[in-house]
Amino acid sequence: MIDPAQQSRTYEVRTYGCQMNVHDSERLSGLLEDAGYVRADGGEQADLVVFNTCAVRENADNKLYGNLSHLAPIKRERPGMQIAVGGCLAQKDRGTVVKKAPWVDVVFGTHNIGSLPTLLERARHNEKAEVEIKEALDAFPSTLPARRESAYAGWVSISVGCNNTCTFCIVPSLRGKEVDRRPGDILAEVHALVDQGVSEVTLLGQNVNAYGVNFADPDLPRDKGAFADLLRACGRIEGLERVRFTSPHPAEFTDDVIDAMAETPNICPQLHMPLQSGSDTVLKDMRRSYRSTKFLGILDRVRERIPHAAITTDIIVGFPGETEEDFQATLDVVEKARFSSAFTFQYSIRPGTPAADLPDQVPKQVVQERYDRLIALQERITLEENRKQVGRRVELLVALGEGRKDAATKRMSGRARDGRLVHFAGSTDIRPGDVVEVEITGAAPHHLVADGGVLSHRRTRAGDNVEASITPVTAPVGVGLGLPPVGRPAPAVEPAATGCSTC
Ligand code: SF4
Repeated sequence: MIDPAQQSRTYEVRTYGCQMNVHDSERLSGLLEDAGYVRADGGEQADLVVFNTCAVRENADNKLYGNLSHLAPIKRERPGMQIAVGGCLAQKDRGTVVKKAPWVDVVFGTHNIGSLPTLLERARHNEKAEVEIKEALDAFPSTLPARRESAYAGWVSISVGCNNTCTFCIVPSLRGKEVDRRPGDILAEVHALVDQGVSEVTLLGQNVNAYGVNFADPDLPRDKGAFADLLRACGRIEGLERVRFTSPHPAEFTDDVIDAMAETPNICPQLHMPLQSGSDTVLKDMRRSYRSTKFLGILDRVRERIPHAAITTDIIVGFPGETEEDFQATLDVVEKARFSSAFTFQYSIRPGTPAADLPDQVPKQVVQERYDRLIALQERITLEENRKQVGRRVELLVALGEGRKDAATKRMSGRARDGRLVHFAGSTDIRPGDVVEVEITGAAPHHLVADGGVLSHRRTRAGDNVEASITPVTAPVGVGLGLPPVGRPAPAVEPAATGCSTC
């Protein structure tokens, strides 16, 4: 039984960066709840604040230290409060975090998120900061419990790490070499989510097409067809209505995956295929081993088999050495590719990446001017492609929090099977997690509109769960790699025994 004093310790996890981090935060929440913490209500100051950081976004470190400084006086006034910093920036900065912010209690890395409760307990007991950064995976994150954020859509990690060495990317040095989960463990987790009402699952990996190169289970041989097989196996799960995946890699994307997508009804007609640059010279400097012709060939083959597929991408503008001619090559590929949308980034130096030391960094104003041209082109294409949707009848999974202006416009929002965001005229009996059909009546560059009313409405178990504020919890799945024991937190420390933990 949980001691009431322990039960009262509340936590908050603040997440920065990519889906990988969002999902890791679900694991952190699951771990903390398993250890007896309860989630703090919105607006309430938690007894424990965990920062799950990102090292990719610009100014990530300034933002983190700004937020930590904001918490310092609060912590001084609140005996027993703890602060933990994990994720990619913690992995990169290590001991620097407690040097710059000595009131932080725990620093943990990307390979040992399972250690958090133990480190918190140790920091409390020893009254000093605990910094534990590992170079290799301590436990597959999926061997940890997870408190899910959504009642209707779930992330399922299929691998961690990446064997590529893209020169702009810090991920390989912070997340390590790729390790793949056993297919049976992945499918068990998908089943567990579906059993709790989840209808959409996104399979998550830094490079999903490499899935099968290095299973964590040494008895499983390398299997190049493993990802396509996994998609087909997801297709056999009763009640699983939508399957997405991110991110694929153009160099390793194979036709068996296209076949699996086309032949498996619950795999969504959506593909996020990162281009990064349309210039073969820049791709070479980025150490991306495909070329623009191969990239466009993949898109042609996908559209041949899945004509209504919405294809999105990532593009970096102003990579070191990028000439006007190189940039023009990117514009040419974008024009031909007809992406439904693109995540566009201005290159800026990320310390610790190979590209940070390359000569010929492109001046900021040149990058900005190219970026503006790319945005204008992509917005034109997105709008043209969205206009083609007008008049189509689409199925939406009603979403929570996707329409910032819904209250003002009196609309609801949902995602079509191809991932497009649709704002629609709904009604009070429709809940997030339910499924509706609508006809598209209008198009804008970043969304579609359906103002003609709902053509059909299916109430779902996910909708019931949203209404009842129930989100799934998944138990550990798979074999651990050797975890430190996880204990329940000690009760809040008496004032006399505290003081900011220092290194
Ligand atoms: S494929 Fe490249 S960009 Fe993606 S995680 Fe691996 S190294 Fe980074």
